[in-house]
Amino acid sequence: MRRVVRILQSIVLVLGLCGAGRAADVAVGTATARPGERATGYIRVPAGVDPAADIPVIVINGAKPGPVLALVAGAHGTEYASIVALEKLAQSADPSGLSGTLIVVPLLNVASFLQKVPHLNPVDGKNMNRLYPGKPDGTQTERVSWAITRQVVEKCDYLIDYHGGDLDENLRPYSYWADTGNDRLDTTSRGMVLAFGLDRIIIQRNRPSDPVPSATTITRQAQISGKPSIAVEAGYAGTTKAEDVDALVRGTLNVMRHLKMLPGVVTPVEHPLWIGRYSVVTSDRDGIFYPLVVPEAYVKQGMKIGYLTDFFGEKVWDVTAPVSGVVLYIGAVPSMKKGDNIAYIGEIVDTP
Ligand SMILES: [Zn+2]
Repeated sequence: MRRVVRILQSIVLVLGLCGAGRAADVAVGTATARPGERATGYIRVPAGVDPAADIPVIVINGAKPGPVLALVAGAHGTEYASIVALEKLAQSADPSGLSGTLIVVPLLNVASFLQKVPHLNPVDGKNMNRLYPGKPDGTQTERVSWAITRQVVEKCDYLIDYHGGDLDENLRPYSYWADTGNDRLDTTSRGMVLAFGLDRIIIQRNRPSDPVPSATTITRQAQISGKPSIAVEAGYAGTTKAEDVDALVRGTLNVMRHLKMLPGVVTPVEHPLWIGRYSVVTSDRDGIFYPLVVPEAYVKQGMKIGYLTDFFGEKVWDVTAPVSGVVLYIGAVPSMKKGDNIAYIGEIVDTP
């Protein structure tokens, strides 16, 4: 009997050695892709206190082994340029020429997309990029976040989160790089963000001395799990302009080259503008908003960036820049509700 066990152990060992260095099947949700193949399926989130959700996922498993890169868009389901970019990228990615695996989640917040509701998941009224790691027994946004943490964040080695100006936001493309204080993580994610190539980079200071939030963004959740991650934004106000979609596709391919998932050389962005911090200007009342500046404009502290009228057309408030810096985004539509964001003003620093 002991001999039989030993023989079986040898067979398992030999099979194991044969498998070493070879790509393996990758399963995410109902999608299982063999090496050199792609598979589509759903990350199924069961019903709880509110309805179930099916999140589409595309797994592109390279013919050669390599890292697992997760690409996630559509947490805000009306930030269309980022969603279209990942659809396009997933269609064109060729598993036969790929080293490693892409897990592509092009549309996280399906209800937001279908119902054309910006910022939130209309099912439970929550922001789908603030509640990671989520909860298995929460409302839909929390259950989706929980499933994505298990199925995507924990299965990947690197992660990119895609956003853009929402239906009501006028925005110029930029990316986020987090300074977490973990050298290995920060050096790797810095390489990723420079390879991506957007020339405006906001620095997030997610230092370990900060209290770890109980609910956070997907990129910070990835960082907490030791996975280098960046966020990128392009597109605005419902548009899907080629220049924005192409910037996101090109940037992703460059990160894949940087991570040796694709052959080729990357030229990282040479002189990015590092934004040390940004100030959010919010509205202190309901009204009709008229912008006076566009994204990319440099403004001085106290300068007028827009104004609000009441519903009789009377000017009731001059909106001014709280700091000097560059306008990253500004309200794109007249609707303005008390507490809504009006603008982000970024403060430029010399180096990260
Ligand atoms: Zn967003």
